Amino acid sequence: MLNFTVGPVMFSDEVRAIGAEQVPYFRTPEFSKIMFENEQLVKKFAKAEADARVCFMTGSGTASMEAAVINIFTKKDNVLVIDGGSFSHRFVEILEIHEIPYTLIKPEFGCSVTENQLGSFEGKGYTGLLVNLNETSIGVLYDIKLISDFCKRNNIFLMVDSISSFLCDPFDMAELDVQVMITGSQKALACPPGISLIVLSEKAVERVYSNKSKTMYLDLKRALKDGERGQTPFTPAVGTLLQINQRLKEIATGGGVDKEVARVGNLAGYFRRKIKEHNLPFEIISKTLPNSVTPLSPASGKSAYDIFTVLKDEYQIWICPNGGSLKDKMFRVGHIGSLEEMDFDVLISAFQDMQKRGLL
Ligand SMILES: *Cc1c(COP(=O)(O)O)cnc(C)c1O
Repeated sequence: MLNFTVGPVMFSDEVRAIGAEQVPYFRTPEFSKIMFENEQLVKKFAKAEADARVCFMTGSGTASMEAAVINIFTKKDNVLVIDGGSFSHRFVEILEIHEIPYTLIKPEFGCSVTENQLGSFEGKGYTGLLVNLNETSIGVLYDIKLISDFCKRNNIFLMVDSISSFLCDPFDMAELDVQVMITGSQKALACPPGISLIVLSEKAVERVYSNKSKTMYLDLKRALKDGERGQTPFTPAVGTLLQINQRLKEIATGGGVDKEVARVGNLAGYFRRKIKEHNLPFEIISKTLPNSVTPLSPASGKSAYDIFTVLKDEYQIWICPNGGSLKDKMFRVGHIGSLEEMDFDVLISAFQDMQKRGLL
C-alpha cells in the first residue's frame, strides 16, 4: 500500500514498531517524563513563547477545535471566521452549537483572504479570529502574516487550526502573536489518529482559567492542571502519545522543524514539477498552495472520484478524494508522512499508465 492521503498517513518503521508493543500503564513518572518531552518539543516546533502550554487531548482534531473554542470564547465575544471550505464550516458549526456570535469572511474560491477583505472589518470591535491555516479540503494556504498583522492592529485574539500545516509550512507562533494553535496526530505528525494538540500562549492559558466553560471531558483547566505533572485528566491514547514522542524526536535529531518543513516543501515541489514535465492532464485551482497537499482537477472532465477508485483498486495507491460538490471535480495528493521522491515516481507512473488506458 502506498498512501498519499492527508491523514492517516504513512508512519516511519520506528513509529510502527511502537504500535506493535503492549501499551504501558501511564500514571507513572516514566510516562510523565515522556509527556514533558512531548510538550517541550511541540512548543519548540511551533516556535511558541517560553510560557506557552500544550494540552494533549484524546480525540481527533475536531475535539481540540471544539475544546479551544469553548474554553476561550463566550457568548460575549464576536469572532471572525475565514470561511473557505469544509474545515471552516466545522468551526462555524461549533460556534452555532455554543451560541458564540460570529461573522464570516469569505475568500474567493482557491484564494487566500485579501487585505481589502480584512480592511472592511478593521476597528469594528471583533474579539477573536478563527482560521484553518491550510484549508485542507481545497489545498489553500492563507496568508498568515496578513491575518496576524490585522489581529495585532485590532487587538484580536487569533486562534489557528494548523492541523494540516504544522510541520509542513513555516510558522512562528510567538512572532505571529497566535494565541492558540491546534494540530492532530494523523497529519504531518505521522502517527495514528486519536490525539489532538492545543498549544496555548500565556495569554490564552489565563483566559482558559478565567472562563467558565460548560464541558467536562473538554475542560482545558483540567488538562492544564494535570499537565503540570505530565499527566492528563483521563486515560489518554497512551500508545499514540508514545508514538508521537518517537516522531518528535526523529524530527529533532533530523535537524529540527525548519528542516522538516523544507523536506515536505521539496517533496511537494518535486511532485508538482513531475506533473508538468509529463504533461499530465490536471489543473491546479489553488493560487496559494500549501506544502502538505496538491489539489488536482482532471482537465478532461473525467470524474476525480473514479480516478481515486481506480488507483485504489487496481494500483494499491491511495490518494485523497474530495466530498460534496467537489467529489467529481477534485482529488488531492498529500506530501506528508513517511514518503520519498521515489514514492511519487510510482504515483506518476500510475497516472501515465491510466492516461494510456484513457482513464484520465
Ligand atoms: C484533518 C483536519 C482537521 C481535523 O479533522 P479530524 O477528522 O477531526 O481529525 C481539522 N482541520 C483541518 C484543517 C484538517 O486538515
